[in-house]
Amino acid sequence: MKKHILSQTVERLEEEFLAWGEQRWRAGQLLDWIYRKHVSSFAACTNLSKTLRQKLEGHFSFYIPPLLHQSDPGDETQKFLWKLEDGSLVESVLLEAPSESESTQEGRGSAGRKTLCLSTQVGCAYGCKFCASGRSGFVRNLTAAEMVEQFLGVERWNRARGYDLPERWISNIVVMGMGEPLANYEELLCALSILNAPWGGGVGARKITISTSGLVPEILRLAAEPEQYRLAISLHGASDEVRSRIMPINRKYPLAALLKACGEYQRAKGRMISFEYILIERLNDTPEQCHGLAAIARRFHAHVNLISYNRVEGCDFSRPPAEVIQRFYRELLSLGVSTTLRQEKGGDLDAACGQLRLRKMQDLAEGPFPS
Ligand code: SAH
Ligand code: SF4
Repeated sequence: MKKHILSQTVERLEEEFLAWGEQRWRAGQLLDWIYRKHVSSFAACTNLSKTLRQKLEGHFSFYIPPLLHQSDPGDETQKFLWKLEDGSLVESVLLEAPSESESTQEGRGSAGRKTLCLSTQVGCAYGCKFCASGRSGFVRNLTAAEMVEQFLGVERWNRARGYDLPERWISNIVVMGMGEPLANYEELLCALSILNAPWGGGVGARKITISTSGLVPEILRLAAEPEQYRLAISLHGASDEVRSRIMPINRKYPLAALLKACGEYQRAKGRMISFEYILIERLNDTPEQCHGLAAIARRFHAHVNLISYNRVEGCDFSRPPAEVIQRFYRELLSLGVSTTLRQEKGGDLDAACGQLRLRKMQDLAEGPFPS
């Protein structure tokens, strides 16, 4: 099977080009077409010779997955559902936040933060009880190229809408989509190195956040890597008793082991950790959990992202009432914890990653597969 062009680094391409008797710098030209001009075929790289383009066609795949669904243009949160070469469905989300000096009317090309939420697997094997990705089971790991393509596909789609975008548009990446990123370690690191490279996506390592449910050996492995990626821990419970009820991984790597690994990561990288905490009614929204969470966050001087639970079809959990969420949030602040509260829009069924795919799969089960 041909390797995908989007999994190739500049060094690997230069080697290949030299072996073909081409000049080394042609590799840079090709990458410029892909990552700055956003072409989607070798044929479009018009300053490369026809012979070189034919060699590229013969050696590399440039498969672009079609979009099955995207949210309305102009939505602040753009959601994309891709159909991969094997028919698997995978989703990406783009969140836009205008910069402080910017009015939202200025449009897509302006300077606000554009954060891409990337998926790393089709489904997920970790089975967290509140999560749509976990509920649909594990299908397979994504390749590095399939991760890089989510980034390019979102940029390409926005360009195709006629917005006047700069060459570099997406400014931040959060690896918080479908799947457990650290369970697909090699492909993830390959994709991030391409998205981080100046010749590739050009997103700074400190603007890339990897979220994990708590795979201790891989957190330690990542701590030893040179890149300064940020780490977000999906905590969702401040005691083993509560965490194990909703996250099976906690039985394998309980809080003490997880927090020890977080300490290692922090020692290796500086202050690069945050905690994610989904508030679920009468499960983890109590004052005891709040105090436990505050103690953990203070130990690491870490930021806490509070997320109100989004209903997943087939799950019995509920979102706490607004006043309980507010009380929990204010209590954390008063305990000296830097906290943000992410409020999802009311009945938005597809708001959390994994939900869009789950719904589409249910729709598809009832009707023909769209091309
Ligand atoms: N597997 C990794 C990364 C992806 S999880 C991890 O667990 O950290 C997907 C993200 O969606 C997580 O940040 C989780 O907090 C969030 N999420 C999952 N189900 C949710 C739900 N029902 N409501 C709100 N957020 C949810
Ligand atoms: Fe997997 Fe993360 Fe969902 Fe848990 S929360 S099932 S680890 S994607």
